[in-house]
Amino acid sequence: RFITLEGGEGAGKSTQIVRLKAWLEQTGKSVVATREPGGAPGAEAIRDLIVSGDIERWDAMAEALLMTAARRMHVEQRIRPALAQGDWVVCDRFSDSTLAYQGYAHGLGRETIERLQQLAIDGLKPDLTLILDVPVAVGLARAAGRGGKEDRFERMGIDFHERLRQGFLEIARREPQRCAVLDATADPDSIADGIRRIVVERLGA
Ligand code: C5P
Repeated sequence: RFITLEGGEGAGKSTQIVRLKAWLEQTGKSVVATREPGGAPGAEAIRDLIVSGDIERWDAMAEALLMTAARRMHVEQRIRPALAQGDWVVCDRFSDSTLAYQGYAHGLGRETIERLQQLAIDGLKPDLTLILDVPVAVGLARAAGRGGKEDRFERMGIDFHERLRQGFLEIARREPQRCAVLDATADPDSIADGIRRIVVERLGA
């Protein structure tokens, strides 16, 4: 089974992925927890290029291509092999982030991003995508509170982050079977409970 967590800045994905992995392991599963951009050596190198880079260095299409190149290596080297041997894979961000960031927020559009995913990873889709939704102001305040900012994405304007949030919600509307939206303003324990409930309901975990 393949589960992804998605959301904008400060949505709390990394906190929840740790909990989800621990809970799945308690129920006896073998779990690979990973993240994007990154998750494989070549993909981590691309992450460094983008995330710590100058804001002007890549345009949206170049960014989408880099994210997708990183994803290809991650899928080939890590995700598909793990799924093939029966592991559960939980991933912090996946193609929906490319769709929401580069497709919706930067305006490349859904079709372009989907074509790229078809080409690069044969359109691999998660079995379940959990979208952690927070108002932009809340997410940005949390992300700023983390300190040590490497992320240039947090310096984009509020409008960008609004389009991003709406992009994730649009993805959930288009694919309600695969996606679930959680109110991520709640405290971490109740979000973790909500996630467990959805995983049981949808995947029979
Ligand atoms: O989730 P995390 O904070 O680790 O993501 C790293 C950075 O990459 C974030 O600032 C996120 O906004 C950015 N990103 C992006 N486009 C993607 C995926 C991530 O701009 N497709």
